[in-house]
Amino acid sequence: MNRYLATLYSLAPIWGQNLILTGYSTLLDRERYAGRFGEFRDLLAKSEWFSRSELDAYQDERLRATVKHAYETVPFYRRRFDECKLKPSDIRGQGDLPKVPLLTRDDVRAHFDDLRSRSVSRGSMRTGHTSGTTGTPLTVGYDADNVWMAYAALDRHYRWAGCRLAQDGDRIGVARGNVIVPLEQKGPPFWRMNRRHNQMLLSSFHLSKQNLPAYFDALARFQPALLDGYPSTLYVLAKFLQSRGETFPLRAVITSSETLYDFQRQVIEERFACRVFDYYALAERVVFSSECERHEGHHLAMEYGVSEIVDKHGHPVPLGTVGKLVGTSLHNMAMPLIRYVTNDMTSLREKPCSCGRGLNIMDDVTTKAEDVLTLKDGRLISPSVLTHPFKPLDCIEGSQIVQTDCQTVIVKLIPGPTYTPEHTHHLITELKARLGQDVRVEVQMVDRLEPAANGKFKWVTSHVPLGI
Ligand SMILES: [Zn+2]
Repeated sequence: MNRYLATLYSLAPIWGQNLILTGYSTLLDRERYAGRFGEFRDLLAKSEWFSRSELDAYQDERLRATVKHAYETVPFYRRRFDECKLKPSDIRGQGDLPKVPLLTRDDVRAHFDDLRSRSVSRGSMRTGHTSGTTGTPLTVGYDADNVWMAYAALDRHYRWAGCRLAQDGDRIGVARGNVIVPLEQKGPPFWRMNRRHNQMLLSSFHLSKQNLPAYFDALARFQPALLDGYPSTLYVLAKFLQSRGETFPLRAVITSSETLYDFQRQVIEERFACRVFDYYALAERVVFSSECERHEGHHLAMEYGVSEIVDKHGHPVPLGTVGKLVGTSLHNMAMPLIRYVTNDMTSLREKPCSCGRGLNIMDDVTTKAEDVLTLKDGRLISPSVLTHPFKPLDCIEGSQIVQTDCQTVIVKLIPGPTYTPEHTHHLITELKARLGQDVRVEVQMVDRLEPAANGKFKWVTSHVPLGI
């Protein structure tokens, strides 16, 4: 929403806000589900069953077209290729990609205009913004194909979850980070309606014991087929059901945008009596990956981009080895991002998924670089490892871990009624067992946990720079 529409929205009564959301969504549909969207959706339905060699051939062909276009029309790439004495014809397929230098977030920030293809006018290029987890905002440019391809990939994910997206789609409860209900509003409704897409948009900023019964009354009236949102928000909803010994059966839950921890998945699946289908996407639109009905990892949408995993020198690592995720878009001629280094760490799996789809499997991204604790002896501790000491303690209503320096880890806790000092002792002992006896673990009781500046919840935050 632009600034004027956002102001109008904030001043409108609730019925007016519902109308604005519905109207705005109708407008966005023209960008998202028109043009080549149908063509891409049909392609993705077919190509998910392509053999590995057919997928490779598709990627190589798109990659050659992207590199040629970038060299011919993007000043940044013309310069960079010339400096490296590279010709577009040197890149015949993915195997040649490591010849191209990596593109960093700083490169995009510093050379935004030079990265724009001269075949696209500045005015016709769409832009998207991301604050990422680094807190440094970034703007990227897209063309129409890129947007249609991204929504076709999302549409496929919904299909894998047994659901339908957007117009004529299923009823969806959406629990993401948009501020759709003013923070000063103290009573229900803590939701707004997008009737165009059958969506009930739930505020992620009014979740409290006092307000949650109203959320569930509204959901019971709305009867959604699925919930789609941040794992942290859906976890809060599921924990509330757990505290009442209730379930709220759905067809599926779709999560994205944050790391989905196992402990969250377990409670969400139990309380909503369905499976969680997680997907991973970036505002830079170079990688999209999502879980199929077998839940054996995230299938990379190989039609959407080429993904690589590299070590700290930028060299590709073997399958199964963790490294930084690097993505190349295959459908963005307005601002082709070639070998863009994301801030996420993961690995590619050797074993294919038992569903029979040829799309490569990427492991869960559980290790955003700055979520990893870096210890004095150089050990890197993944957040998933830290979930274990918390697992038996369901007397904890919420927690957050902050590493302030190499030797200090602070655990912020919202204790439940049955929490006792013994639990604090257990946590400290178990965390020290994983982090080392020389690490100081401090447990602080708090009333609430703060989301990061971008509104997303981060369970683990380290202020110590990652040593790799
Ligand atoms: Zn699969």
